[in-house]
Amino acid sequence: MQHDSKAVSTSLWDKLNQRAQSQDWPDSALYVVATPIGNMLDLSIRAWHTFMRCNVVAAEDTRTTKALFNAWGIERKLIAAHRHNEIEAANTIIKKLSEGNRVALVSDAGAPAISDPGGRLVAMVLEAGYRVIPVPGPSAVVSALMASGVTSDANPEFAFAGFVPSKTGARSEWLQRWCNYGFVVAMYESPHRIKNTLQALAEIMPAQRLITVARELTKKFEQIVTIKATDINSWLTENEKKLQGEFVLIIHSWATESNSSEIGLQSKDLIKALVQEVSVRDAARVVARLGIMPRDQAYKLALEVKSGF
Ligand code: SAM
Repeated sequence: MQHDSKAVSTSLWDKLNQRAQSQDWPDSALYVVATPIGNMLDLSIRAWHTFMRCNVVAAEDTRTTKALFNAWGIERKLIAAHRHNEIEAANTIIKKLSEGNRVALVSDAGAPAISDPGGRLVAMVLEAGYRVIPVPGPSAVVSALMASGVTSDANPEFAFAGFVPSKTGARSEWLQRWCNYGFVVAMYESPHRIKNTLQALAEIMPAQRLITVARELTKKFEQIVTIKATDINSWLTENEKKLQGEFVLIIHSWATESNSSEIGLQSKDLIKALVQEVSVRDAARVVARLGIMPRDQAYKLALEVKSGF
C-alpha cells in the first residue's frame, strides 16, 4: 500500500501539536532549554514548542540563537545572558517572571550551565521563589559517553571534569589528578590546545589505559576513536590535519567489564613475577603505572600473592 507522505507527516505534526497544546506550560517559570551542539535537527519538538510559548528568550549570544531560530522559523524577543552579565540578566529575568512571563534560557550550544553560563542565573531564580523547568536535549559530554561504550549497568560511574585548564603548569597537575581517579572521566578541550593536552596525557596515562577522542559530534566531520595511551603520539602524527573542531576526551576506567577477567589473570601472573624481583610497594606502583588497576588494589593483590609464596 502506498502512503501519501505529505498527508502522513501533516497528520503526525497535527498530533504532536495537539499533544503540545494539552501539556502544562506554567507561567512565571524559567525554561532551561538544551540546543543542538552542531546538527540543527537535534532541537527537540518540546524545545521548539517551549520557545513558541515563551515571551522572551535569554541567550548566551543572541546572534547564535538568532541563527538557530531562523532555521526553525522561530521569532522571539532575545535578551543577552552571558558570563559577564549573569547577575544583571538574572535580575531582569526575575522581574519578567514576577510579571507572569514565561522565559527561556539557552547557551550557544548544548545544555546551559554545563561548562556554560546559566548556573548562577538558575540559582538566583530559584532563590527568588520561581519555578525552573528543564527542557533536556543535546550535550557534548553525554553524546560522547553514549558513543564510547564506557559505561554499563555494572559500571555506571563517570566524572565530568569540565574544561582542561588553559595554563600549562596547572594543566599537567589537573590531568594527573583526574588520571589518578580510577573511573571514567570526561573532559572538554578546545581545538588550539588539543595536541598539547593529548601529548601531556600520553606522558601521564598508564600505557594500556584507553582514551576516546570524540570530535565534531553530530557534525559532518564527526570522528570518535578509542586508542591506548601508548598509541596517542602516533595517532596524533597520523591525524595532524584532523585536530580541528570541538573535542570531548574520555579517559576510560582502569579495567572495562570486557577485559577485567583477562586483566585479572594476567595481572596476577605479572604481580607474581614482580614481587620476586622488587618490593610489594614497587610492584604495585608498576602495575598501576601500566594502567592495569589502581595502586591500592595492586598493593593488596601483591601482598596476597607474596604471602602465598
Ligand atoms: N554546554 C555545552 C554542552 O552541554 O555540551 C558545552 C559548552 S562548552 C562552552 C563547549 C565545549 O563543549 C567545546 O569546547 C567542546 O569541548 C565541547 N563540545 C561542544 N560541542 C561539541 C561537539 N559538537 N563535538 C565535540 N565537542 C563539543
